[in-house]
Formats: sequence, structure tokens, C-alpha cells
Amino acid sequence: MKIHEYQAKEILRQYGVPTPRGSVCYSVDEAIAVAQQLGGPVWVVKAQIHAGGRGQGGGVKVVNSVQDVGTRAGEILGMQLVTHQTNADGQLVRRLLIEEGVQIAKEYYVGMVIDRSKQRVVLMASSEGGMEIEAVAAYSPEKIHKVWINPSSGLIDAEVDAVARQIGIPSAALAQARACFQGLYQAFVEKDAMLAEINPLVLTVDQNLLALDAKINFDSNALFRHSEIVALRDLDEEDPAEVEASQFGLSYISLNGNIGCLVNGAGLAMATMDIIKLYGGMPANFLDVGGGASKEKVTEAFKLMLRNPNLCAILVNIFGGIMKCDVIAEGVVAAAREVHLKVPLVVRLEGTNVDLGKKILAESGLPIISAGDMADAAAKVVTAAKGA
Ligand code: GDP
Ligand code: MN
Repeated sequence: MKIHEYQAKEILRQYGVPTPRGSVCYSVDEAIAVAQQLGGPVWVVKAQIHAGGRGQGGGVKVVNSVQDVGTRAGEILGMQLVTHQTNADGQLVRRLLIEEGVQIAKEYYVGMVIDRSKQRVVLMASSEGGMEIEAVAAYSPEKIHKVWINPSSGLIDAEVDAVARQIGIPSAALAQARACFQGLYQAFVEKDAMLAEINPLVLTVDQNLLALDAKINFDSNALFRHSEIVALRDLDEEDPAEVEASQFGLSYISLNGNIGCLVNGAGLAMATMDIIKLYGGMPANFLDVGGGASKEKVTEAFKLMLRNPNLCAILVNIFGGIMKCDVIAEGVVAAAREVHLKVPLVVRLEGTNVDLGKKILAESGLPIISAGDMADAAAKVVTAAKGA
């Protein structure tokens, strides 16, 4: 789960990480009122969307008067902000963060993710802050310094000091670096984050370290123990198809291809996407209907997939274990009828009552393409998508 920058900064402040003063706003009037409260002489108007690269896209403006705060707020609120992390249409800006402006001497990068191969949280830090860290990783990987944090000792002072020196934080700011890095780590662990990033962490001209930007992504599987994080969820920022899917107990992720996949079980769903790619196709989505694929669930799943204008064909790949194939076949037939399916549908069933299931599909009168094994299914759906 993702949250906004202003929310991430609130969390970081709770863990002792200094940030500029500021407040979220939903209108120009509010933005002006907040700017007046903060006092000058410099303010920053920042679009709040769940995507990075806002600065380059025109969503972050440094201004020198309250009047300009109002002007910029008016321009940014309601704009479709396009960044390298949004799609081509961009994301509608509904919230702003109005902050005091700071005078930057140097920008650093600091981030944390879970390194599964090492089974540890890895701290990454770089002198190359403010820019896309992916570009630094690609072109000058030696400028990214890493610390794999021992979970029993946590991030210790000596580790922070060493990495802070490596990225060029001056000695006078080492105590503040400890507060920033250890606060970030504490927040990461206690809030069950998957990614926490301060980019840039800035050294101000008066030698203070501040988190100028903040991003935290949380592990959805741990949200049951963080109602305070769930309360920060902004559904406007999420894919409407994915939000709706979750309401029906479906795990749905939109992808860029044109072949819809309806599968039971996350592992089989991933294997299905892999084999579609192996046969030269591109999946339009990940969709796990779960163990109990009822007619209602299958119908909702079809509706979700059909919303995608790029959809050219659908592959249903179901292993009938506890769920019997004949029940699933009836569900697929009923769902296909209800949505008046126009795109080719390939169905591959395996498991309990498979023969009966195939008979139901064949006798339905619907133009369903029946497939034998996974390879046969993939080949057929890729061909069908090309013809569509
Ligand atoms: P992002 O582009 O979405 O990552 O948004 P950021 O919050 O990182 O802002 C982008 C850039 O705006 C930063 O790297 C800074 O260079 C600049 N910026 C943000 N706040 C201030 C500020 O208070 N003063 C100055 N001078 N620049 C700022
Ligand atoms: Mn940033």
C-alpha cells in the first residue's frame, strides 16, 4: 500500500526525522492560509500523488510570495500530472503540500528495502540525491553505498557514521544523520514497510539535515495490525479495477498486454502469464479468483477484464481440485453469456470431473476454444489474440 508524501513525513516526524514544516491542502484558499501561517520568505507548492518524478513533471514549485503560492496552487490542483511513474494520461492532482522552502547546500539519497536474498533490510545511500536513483544505479552503481542491517542489533551508530562519511555528509551533521537514518529504519520495521525512501535528504546552508521528500510503501499482508496506516489509504490514487476486484475477493493487477487471464491460485496465475509470454503473447492482467471460483466471482472477473480497451482474448486456466471442473464450466458459461462476450475465449480445465466440464463447455453453444494442456492453451490464446 502506498501513501502520500505529507503522510510519510508525518510518520517520519514521529520517529524523530526532521522535515520542513508544512500542511496538506485541498483548495487554493487553504493553500494561501497555510502559507500565511508558515511565514516566508520562501514556500514550496507540491502536488500530492502516489508517483515520483513530480518535480520534473511540473508538480513541485518553489515560490517567493503568498500570492505566488495561490497562483501555483491554482495551476497544480486539478492538473493531470505526468511523470515517468504515471501512465501517459497522468494522475489528477487533488491534494497539495504547502511547505516552508529551505535553502539547499547538498542533496543526498537514502532508502531502505527488504533484500530477500540476504533476509535483511538493506539501507542504500548516495551522494547523488534529488535525481532518479534508478539512473544512478544503472550508470554509477559505485555511488550507491549499502548496509545490510542485522535485525537483532538494528542500525547501529558506527554503521550510520561510516555510510554518512561515504556519501559526504559533513562531520558536524553526523548526529543528525543518525537521527535520520535510525528514525527511518525504526519506522520501516515498526510500520511493516516494504520500501522507505528520503530523496532528497538535504543539507541546508545552515548545516541541518532535513527529509525534503519522503515515500513509504507498506506490506499489505501486515495491514491487519496497522489500522493507523489503513486510515491513510487514498482510493483515488489506486487503479479502480484493482479496488473493485478487492471488494469481490479477487486479486487483480492491471498489466500492459492484451490477453486477459482468469486463473485460480496465485502460483498457477503466474505460471499462466509466463507461458503466455513464452508463446509470444502479453498478459493484460494478473487475476487470481481464489479457491472458491463461484459463478458470481467469475462473472465479476470477466467484467473487470472486459473494461480494458486493449483486451483481445481471454484465457481461463483453472485447476479443479476442491472446486470441481463441471461447476467451474457452468460458471464460465453463465458469465460469458451474462457479459455477452465478444472476444475469443480459450478455456483450459484440469482436475476433478474434467470430462464433464469440457462437455458443458462444448454443449453451451458459445464459441469457446477448448484447450488440453498449458502449452496448448497458451498457443491457442496467442493465436486468437493476434486474429482479433
Ligand atoms: P519528486 O520530484 O516527486 O521526487 O519531488 P521532490 O519532493 O523530491 O522535489 C523535487 C525537487 O524539488 C527536489 O529534489 C529539490 O531540488 C526541489 N525542492 C523541493 N523542495 C525545495 C525547497 O524547499 N527548496 C528548494 N530550493 N528546492 C526544493
Ligand atoms: Mn523526490
